[in-house]
Amino acid sequence: MTETTITLVQGDITRERADAIVNAANSSLLGGGGVDGAIHRRGGPAILAECRALRASHYGKGLPTGQAVATTAGELDARWVIHTVGPVFQASGSDPSLLASCYRESLKVADELGARTVAFPAISTGAYGWPMEEAARIAVETVRATETAVAEVRFVLFDERAYALFAEQLR
Ligand code: ADP
Repeated sequence: MTETTITLVQGDITRERADAIVNAANSSLLGGGGVDGAIHRRGGPAILAECRALRASHYGKGLPTGQAVATTAGELDARWVIHTVGPVFQASGSDPSLLASCYRESLKVADELGARTVAFPAISTGAYGWPMEEAARIAVETVRATETAVAEVRFVLFDERAYALFAEQLR
């Protein structure tokens, strides 16, 4: 098994070139804010059309939390968008294994597709409220522990603080 290299970029994930770009979707698969909104805006209507088709077929009730599914990347500089649904953070207790599952299942889909470069946002750290430091730890630990043929996992962090917290995990 080849080594997976983890790289970090600060910026807008919709500007990245990669085989697959991961979307921090919600279970409806029909769009939302944050990364999801940006991906559909920049990727164009082909992505939403495939998401609707998924809702009409395999995912009638939506995509469950922690799972992942691929569509075209439309006009993005990628071949596929892999949609995954992060868990909502709750102060009363949240399940980190569901967040880990997003990374693992997305890499599994990437392997099925034959993607060699995959760009991830910091899943669940926006509208879903997960503390960035813990989310960064879970993201990096999970990718390191996952057997995959993906050669580069690139975390694309929107702001400086997120970048710094991910960089700390890689040291
Ligand atoms: P979730 O609903 O899983 O929390 P969000 O899209 O709301 O997902 O946010 C996830 C993370 O992505 C947040 O840290 C947010 O700042 C960041 N983010 C938002 N837009 C972009 C973008 N265009 N590129 C990269 N990261 C983004």
